[in-house]
Amino acid sequence: MSPRLVPCSKSAFATRAIHGAGETDPATGALVAPIVQSTTYRQLGIGRDLGHTYSRASNPTVAALERALGSLEGSLPALCTSSGMAAITTLFLATLQHGQRVVCGDVVYGGTVRLLRQVLTAFGVEAVFVDTSDGPALGRALVGGARILFLESPANPTLKLTDLAAASAAARAAGALCVVDNTFLTPAHQDAFALGADVVLHSTTKYLEGHNATLGGALLTKDARLRERLDLVRKSLGTIQAPFEAWLTLRGLKTLELRLARHAASALALARALASHPAVARVHYPWLDSFPQLELARRQQKSGGGIVAVELAGGLAAAKRFVEALELWSLAENLGAPESIVTHPATMTHAAYTSEERARLAITDGLVRLSVGLEDPADLLADLEQALRAVETAEVSA
Ligand SMILES: *Cc1c(COP(=O)(O)O)cnc(C)c1O
Repeated sequence: MSPRLVPCSKSAFATRAIHGAGETDPATGALVAPIVQSTTYRQLGIGRDLGHTYSRASNPTVAALERALGSLEGSLPALCTSSGMAAITTLFLATLQHGQRVVCGDVVYGGTVRLLRQVLTAFGVEAVFVDTSDGPALGRALVGGARILFLESPANPTLKLTDLAAASAAARAAGALCVVDNTFLTPAHQDAFALGADVVLHSTTKYLEGHNATLGGALLTKDARLRERLDLVRKSLGTIQAPFEAWLTLRGLKTLELRLARHAASALALARALASHPAVARVHYPWLDSFPQLELARRQQKSGGGIVAVELAGGLAAAKRFVEALELWSLAENLGAPESIVTHPATMTHAAYTSEERARLAITDGLVRLSVGLEDPADLLADLEQALRAVETAEVSA
């Protein structure tokens, strides 16, 4: 048999996305990693195993995905979890103690806010939410002491950016661990480690698996001791990913670069078309000329990503009519899938915020979030335009 290509860190992204797991089944030479659906592993003798003992601790299919993700991020192999929230929970319980603080971006995934506010407070963990796009405000929040600085850029749903290089430097100076939730751009379009992250996390549910078919998460670091701690806590909590989800995610990774390029190109085209529509008050998209942080977006991201946030001029009534008039776009939670999805953050993903908070963070009642799928962009635009016409017709007759 010819020797199997195992990519080195110098191989290009697409090559690592396909070969980063390395040889997956030496016994059979299977080109695609097999699904090892086994709870336990026969041991050769006491203290002698073949690398796996019990699938809550590790599993060969999950390990293949972990090598592939580590290869893409240029870090140690990932630790994959049963969901993105399981990754965040594992990370917090592995690194935080009673009395410690988390400084967290003020516009992050709603589940992260709920975990900090409604679960971890009972364990004596304090969370401070701050506008991490505002350097001085971030500096003041870190002065109070922080174990973790938790960042998401672009932020969900307004796509506000944080200067990750500056924020991670501030975290380092304050002795805090800098964690970046890189779900929106993935390593294909944002190199969070190069920008200074200590830990990168993903909801693999989104672009990494990319087909609306799994829940999963991943934690990555270059620090071997921290990885060991995360591994111990994942085993203790039972938050590891299931083999079939890992197998589907390995399959998804192979086309990540192609898919993300298409998601981003279509998103930019739709953002431009919607920006001049009379029923639209504002379009948030990092690659638009009108985006207030365009220069930062171009510096730290390889694209504007596949998400567009659209503020409808007619507020809640317009948003309601718009999402109900869409035909190709589904009203649903989730993003990063082939199927285009529309979400109403104020009542869906960000309902955990109070209405005053939402107003301050520009998560208005007229805001809809578009996860631009892989359908033909002209068809996607035609559907958005007919739904906007339905909004305008209703407003005229009201
Ligand atoms: C979806 C999401 C999560 C949570 O992931 P699940 O897989 O749904 O648990 C965390 N962060 C971001 C940015 C997300 O979009």
